[in-house]
Amino acid sequence: MALFRFGRKPTTDAAAPTAETQSTGDGSPTEPAARSGGGLLDRLRAGLAKTARVLNTDVRDLFKREGRLVDEEFLEELRATLIRTDMGPAAAEAIVVDVRERLRARVVDPEIVIDSIRRQLLGRLEQTGAAVAMAASGPTVILVTGVNGSGKTTSIAKLARLFTREGKRVVLGAGDTFRAAAVEQLSMWAGRLGAEIVRGEPGCDPASVAHRAVARALEGSFDVCIIDTAGRLQTQSNLMQELSKIRRVIAKQIPDAPHEVLLVIDATAGQNALSQAKGFKEAAGCTGIVLAKLDGSARGGVIVPVTEQFGLPVKFVGLGETADDLEVFSPERFVAALLEGALASAG
Ligand code: GDP
Ligand code: MG
Repeated sequence: MALFRFGRKPTTDAAAPTAETQSTGDGSPTEPAARSGGGLLDRLRAGLAKTARVLNTDVRDLFKREGRLVDEEFLEELRATLIRTDMGPAAAEAIVVDVRERLRARVVDPEIVIDSIRRQLLGRLEQTGAAVAMAASGPTVILVTGVNGSGKTTSIAKLARLFTREGKRVVLGAGDTFRAAAVEQLSMWAGRLGAEIVRGEPGCDPASVAHRAVARALEGSFDVCIIDTAGRLQTQSNLMQELSKIRRVIAKQIPDAPHEVLLVIDATAGQNALSQAKGFKEAAGCTGIVLAKLDGSARGGVIVPVTEQFGLPVKFVGLGETADDLEVFSPERFVAALLEGALASAG
């Protein structure tokens, strides 16, 4: 298995203005409305605005009182602010301990506090990264899982866009056979993105759709095959077994496939994201996470405990509803976008 790193050149990115769709509620794409183009960091910054507001504004508020001492009251306020981003008690505690050690009984130094937060977050996100496991030869198969409405189908469209931009040929498998609307939604995206789609009758066995999609990828020499699945809860063991069956069917066709089993998590799910990560990793063998809807969440910090507790790397973040609103996750860019401005505006 080769490791492939996505890279979007900033020049390409800036040259290609993104379009914005209005949601129809069922996630079907609608006509794009104009939106000015923006660089990669701009989009991440915009996407993380809500989380950054909690971290930035509230941490900044802690610095407001001039000559404030680093005492237990200050440290408790700092901890509460950090917890509100959902970064988890362990990360919050580590930051508090670090700040206490570095500034004990001294006047609050915003630079040191921000530096502590930055270092702790980066250290804890170290193992996450952009590498997508690609097949050494032949089609790469990516299975996409998650609970209902988490953003699976939209994320598949976004992934297909990334791959086709790199000149790869993509075939999609409409494995959410549970709802006819889900098949239509994916078909619409496939049409827009110029990807091929394999679909079955509503209600048919998703494993048979997966089988046909992989067969099509092999016979048509496609580079990537991305398979959608119906939403399910990590606690529904019969549906989790269905995922196992899909995996077995795929593995019979290509021994080291699926090369990735991505779990799409809604960033607004807060602590629920943790039980999803746990359940899906155990029952579905997920290999990585797409954290969708980060643009609508004030709890982007949840990336930290998800990564740390389950060793599941966040590979992509979803920042909106169009096919362009996906970023390869980079801890450095993430932390920079979160903390930017915290110092400049402090004091
Ligand atoms: P699925 O049921 O898991 O396949 O979820 P969908 O892909 O159909 O998405 C459910 C809803 O969330 C749709 O209205 C999508 O447009 C929306 N959505 C998906 N990803 C994002 C995202 O990154 N940001 C925002 N703001 N909305 C998203
Ligand atoms: Mg769907």
